Amino acid sequence: MTRNNVRLLLGCLLVASRGGAEMPSLSYNPTYSETVRFLVAAGEASELVSVATIGQSAKGRQIPVAMVHDPRVSPLEVTRILVLARQHGNEPAGTVAVLGLLKDIMAGRGELPAQLSRICLVIVPMINPDGAEANRRSNARGADLNRDWIYRKQPETQAVEYLFNLWDPHVVLDLHELHWNDKHGLNTIEAPQAGVSLAAMGDDSRRLQSLILARLKGAGFPARVSSWDESCNMNLCHRHYARDHGRVSLLFESERQGLRTPLPRRAAMHRIGLDAVLDYYATDGMELRYPRLALAPASPEGGPLMPELGANAAEGISLEARPAEPAVMIVSPELDRPLSGQVRLQVEVEGIGDLSYISIRIDGQSRFFSNRGPYAFDLDTARLGAGRHAILVRAHRRDGSVVEQEYLVTVS
Ligand SMILES: [Zn+2]
Repeated sequence: MTRNNVRLLLGCLLVASRGGAEMPSLSYNPTYSETVRFLVAAGEASELVSVATIGQSAKGRQIPVAMVHDPRVSPLEVTRILVLARQHGNEPAGTVAVLGLLKDIMAGRGELPAQLSRICLVIVPMINPDGAEANRRSNARGADLNRDWIYRKQPETQAVEYLFNLWDPHVVLDLHELHWNDKHGLNTIEAPQAGVSLAAMGDDSRRLQSLILARLKGAGFPARVSSWDESCNMNLCHRHYARDHGRVSLLFESERQGLRTPLPRRAAMHRIGLDAVLDYYATDGMELRYPRLALAPASPEGGPLMPELGANAAEGISLEARPAEPAVMIVSPELDRPLSGQVRLQVEVEGIGDLSYISIRIDGQSRFFSNRGPYAFDLDTARLGAGRHAILVRAHRRDGSVVEQEYLVTVS
């Protein structure tokens, strides 16, 4: 990030009129439009919060970002922390946690305002608004965003990469939740394994991991650590920012969703982790820990880098979805986990008005056809054999055109 770049950013983000904003209430599990209205109000109420958009989802919903920084301190002089929540639409705990943090800032609670001489936060509360609205893991095109970080084919991952390049954060935190069928079920903090070759900042991932683990256990949250090396799937966000950009990068997974782990408790786990990271970097700032980062190239000429989401932003942002882009997707089971035994593939289509039928090919062979919904296909994975398989689901229109989506799955 160049100085010029920073000035431009602040110029287009700072909202002239502050105060007097009504604080919208947040429900237990805030919807997209509640989240946007809350962010706009936060930007109006606090001089420490600026809001903007970084792009649009597949269905055309704006993806909001909130910057928490002291306007008297240059973002170049502090540790910049990027917090990503809700890549998976059915994992609301991260969203609830970061909105809670903003709420505390607006109420003047907590340590963060005083810490902003050393750190600043860039928060994306809802990367996948279409998935969040549908309570679905994938985006509106049926893509798992956290398996899209090598090529970044989806508008949501492209928007986050754009934000990353703009702010050049030192630290990336990606907030997720474990689902009811996860085998460990414990709050998990993942960092790169020792020995994964990273830039100077890589080691801090493991120090932070230990700190967060201790804080979680101290607060009565059962927790574990996990690690990855380069034989693991590198299509995940936190691995991408660690390996490809050399940043401190952690994955938080809150404990298994269930009756004893209601949403506020899962959000509390994320908040404990976040606060630990903020305390760590506020204690002694970037200048003590890292050499100054190489600066990103200058911004392109003209036009705001991030459209404003302040002042009259409630009008500027499209709270309602645009018509769906045509999509066909397998919504169940989750195909990024190994499959075994009998599974029922449930297929949904969106935005395909003149649908004729659905077909499924596995490893190039036609397996299923149906012209009557709901589209569910029983597959005996034992007949496929262990290993990797390609599932191609197609929606055929009456005019002969096709919308398709391919999934690579593992049968164990
Ligand atoms: Zn997730």
